[in-house]
Amino acid sequence: MVAEDEFLRHQDLYYADGSVVLLAAHAGKTHAFRVHKSVLGSHSRVFADMFVLPSTAENETYDGVDSVQMPDDAKDLEDLLRALYYPGTILSMLENRNPLAAIKYKGILLLSQKYFVRVLHKLLRARFRADWPSTLTEWDRLMEHYASLSSSTVPHHDAASQFVDNRMLEPASAIRLAREANIPEILPAAFYMLSTISPFMDFDALRSSNPPPLTDSQGNVLLWQPGQRSARWGLLTPDDWLCLSRGRHSMMDFAQTFEAQEGDCICGSQDCIQYDNKKKLLKGPPQDLLRVLKDIGSQGTLPQYPCYNALQALASRSVQTRSVLWENLCYYFGLPEVVDDQNDGDSDDIALVEGEFIDG
Ligand SMILES: [Zn+2]
Repeated sequence: MVAEDEFLRHQDLYYADGSVVLLAAHAGKTHAFRVHKSVLGSHSRVFADMFVLPSTAENETYDGVDSVQMPDDAKDLEDLLRALYYPGTILSMLENRNPLAAIKYKGILLLSQKYFVRVLHKLLRARFRADWPSTLTEWDRLMEHYASLSSSTVPHHDAASQFVDNRMLEPASAIRLAREANIPEILPAAFYMLSTISPFMDFDALRSSNPPPLTDSQGNVLLWQPGQRSARWGLLTPDDWLCLSRGRHSMMDFAQTFEAQEGDCICGSQDCIQYDNKKKLLKGPPQDLLRVLKDIGSQGTLPQYPCYNALQALASRSVQTRSVLWENLCYYFGLPEVVDDQNDGDSDDIALVEGEFIDG
């Protein structure tokens, strides 16, 4: 028996007819949720098994019913219980490409996994997987969308909207989520995206009221430019940094190999577009090779240009090369190979409805 005024009773999730009280801590306070064994048990085998244990004299009770001290964070547990009692709250979690999703919903995703709340777990997992491109075509589509966000005019008085990446997926938080919740499918795109962002541009530091000044190795002050992306660098583990560093290194090698291949320049000019194009590949880091190769691949020129044929060949080589690059991202970053869909023998696969909602 525990003292009844010790705990903070939850506003909504404390039902008078609840049959069990779950206790969980958050920020030094213990929160109490009075819920129903039958409801939790119907969603989760783990809960069902937990509550089937016979009541004994040693069992803790609170407010006249069994109580269970949960090892989880009370905020995450609240999210989980809310999703079970108020299914409408799940809808906001399933929004397309919510930039904060990897931070906001990580707790509930991990808890739904831990307690085998299968439908919720599958929905959230499917959402995170669908958010990140798994093919080069999907990647290109996402980047086109982001380019349109960056080029749209930003009202200067609006502090939040000047950060265009407030509306974009943030790769470092996604990497942590993918690692902890075992969603390796999203890692190649997330690591690639991270590799295109300057480590000097920190998501939180830039948004603080007094951002620390940044200088490069030559002492030059680095200023954030509107439209420039940032990442939550502080979330990465040493292992993530190693993967990132390997990936950057491998891609630099890749770019150098591509650049070193002979073209058929016949004009012999130092200003030949071919040379110019190739040099773009060696800039950075950070570098976005997929974007540079796409630019080279789509560059048109007049047939009268002396090196027209060579440029055409370079363009088609760029297009092929970016497919190779995309296919090899796992290898470059030293990530686990993704083996098909993790087939757990379930037939209740979940398909998300993508795109616009249809009225009526
Ligand atoms: Zn030439």
